[in-house]
Amino acid sequence: MLSRGHFSKINFRPTLITMEITKIPNKILAKKMEKVAVDDIKSGLYKGLISDMRTAMVENNGVGLAANQVGKDLRIFVVDKKLAEENNVPDAFINPEITEYSKESDEMEEGCLSVPDYWAQIKRAKKIKIKFIDENGTKQKIKAKGFLARVFQHETDHLNGLTIKERTAEVRLRTDLLSNK
Ligand SMILES: [Zn+2]
Repeated sequence: MLSRGHFSKINFRPTLITMEITKIPNKILAKKMEKVAVDDIKSGLYKGLISDMRTAMVENNGVGLAANQVGKDLRIFVVDKKLAEENNVPDAFINPEITEYSKESDEMEEGCLSVPDYWAQIKRAKKIKIKFIDENGTKQKIKAKGFLARVFQHETDHLNGLTIKERTAEVRLRTDLLSNK
């Protein structure tokens, strides 16, 4: 997920671009990502990838990044380190699954590194519960609310093959249906 606020942090120091961000209509962005094996997490197989994803997210001023956004068919996403620290949660999520959504929702403008020059009001649940495996291979289940819950929903959407384009279309469709009544 891309946050407008982060534009203020852009620096002009030349950096080595480690990973290219996939953009729509790349097919990997429309695909459900494959689950990762716990043994492979424990053996450290994905440490390098997760580290590279963090770097790519920071270089591109994102607040979250899913593995298919760097061309990897894996159920992994990372979120902004500061956002994670503020909420006392990890910043890398493996095989995440949102298990509960609050009925209460709110709308906020979202952008996405994979959908350039596009911003849209997206309706999301205010609170969620998410289960996942952490970088050490330990199963965890946590609650999230507000902006963090929004980032989790945005990144989990990616791993299920959805971008904000589909979310926006869904809202438009719902509005159209309502106005036809
Ligand atoms: Zn995104």
